[in-house]
Amino acid sequence: MDDSRVTGVHLDLGPGGGRRTVCADLVVDATGRSSRLGDWLSVHGWPRPPLRRMPIRLNYATAVFRRDPAVSTVASVVAQDRPGPGRVARIGAVLAVEGGRWMVVVCGFAGDRPGRDPADFARRCRADFPPVFGDIAERAERLGDVVTFHQADSRRRDFHAVRRLPAGLVAAGDAVASFNPVYSQGMTSAALHASCLSAWLRGSPRLDRPATDYFAMVRVVVDAAWQVSTTADLALPHVDGPYPPGHRLVAGLGDLVLAMSAHDAELNRRLSLVTMMFAHPRSLAGPGVLARALAARLRDPARRKDPARR
Ligand SMILES: Cc1cc2nc3c(=O)[nH]c(=O)nc-3n(C[C@H](O)[C@H](O)[C@H](O)COP(=O)(O)OP(=O)(O)OC[C@H]3O[C@@H](n4cnc5c(N)ncnc54)[C@H](O)[C@@H]3O)c2cc1C
Repeated sequence: MDDSRVTGVHLDLGPGGGRRTVCADLVVDATGRSSRLGDWLSVHGWPRPPLRRMPIRLNYATAVFRRDPAVSTVASVVAQDRPGPGRVARIGAVLAVEGGRWMVVVCGFAGDRPGRDPADFARRCRADFPPVFGDIAERAERLGDVVTFHQADSRRRDFHAVRRLPAGLVAAGDAVASFNPVYSQGMTSAALHASCLSAWLRGSPRLDRPATDYFAMVRVVVDAAWQVSTTADLALPHVDGPYPPGHRLVAGLGDLVLAMSAHDAELNRRLSLVTMMFAHPRSLAGPGVLARALAARLRDPARRKDPARR
């Protein structure tokens, strides 16, 4: 690194491999959520990107089973109950994966930690989720151990907000922002950052200047994913902030669209486009979507049975 730009990377080739320096016009930090880029910038006298965190205290347990039509013909199920006061959030998934296998994931939050004990895994699958979870955990052949994972927070590094940035440097993927993995945004986000990088480079940018335009594009992707994931996280009983401005309104409208998406195919389609990151969350805030959600609410059979329900 010189006074104005990054000039390459040092490679540590491990035991016996020594060190090597590779010169580069552009260095991309894609080292994931534990990226040390902020430290490296700081050591060389540059400001760190501001770090924002949403504490989620997520605990995962995952096991893989051989798919067996005698147990279930289901390919994929995602189950999430609506947590309320005094209720523990339950999120789990059964996913068909390559090699004729199911991957089964159960989540706990805060002090609720699914362990590596297969009996505990099966008990949780049976007690907390739709029957297919328990059927697979109890009757299908488990391939390997139950493995666990803990993630303390969702985090984003706001490179767009840094006052001074060296030229010849960008970051992408989890090195910029990593979210609660329950919402499956990480791979799509990383791919969209790669698209931003491609678009920026095709515009023949000056590589001797900071990549401000690239980080402005990435910000749009990060803001969208962050809004979706943190709004959902803030509905979890153990997550108590930080609340962004307008959170109650956004969360209320989001709840309405989510609830009514179970009754209205077009709403479901629009919501899926947002959760799969084909569309920006603001596409759900237009009058057309909201009118549709309210109309579905008025038609909601549960509401008709119980007029007191709002
Ligand atoms: C349990 C779990 C479940 C997930 N489920 C989903 C899901 O269902 N769908 C989804 O879209 N996303 C999911 N994600 C998120 C997804 O895995 C990440 O968003 C995605 O992998 C980010 O890609 P990346 O290339 O930016 O970083 P990473 O995949 O983390 O890759 C970074 C790489 O850099 C390497 N590295 C780090 N430091 C250095 C260094 N100093 N020198 C050399 N190499 C280095 C690391 O070893 C790693 O290989 C999940 C994440 C977790 C933890």
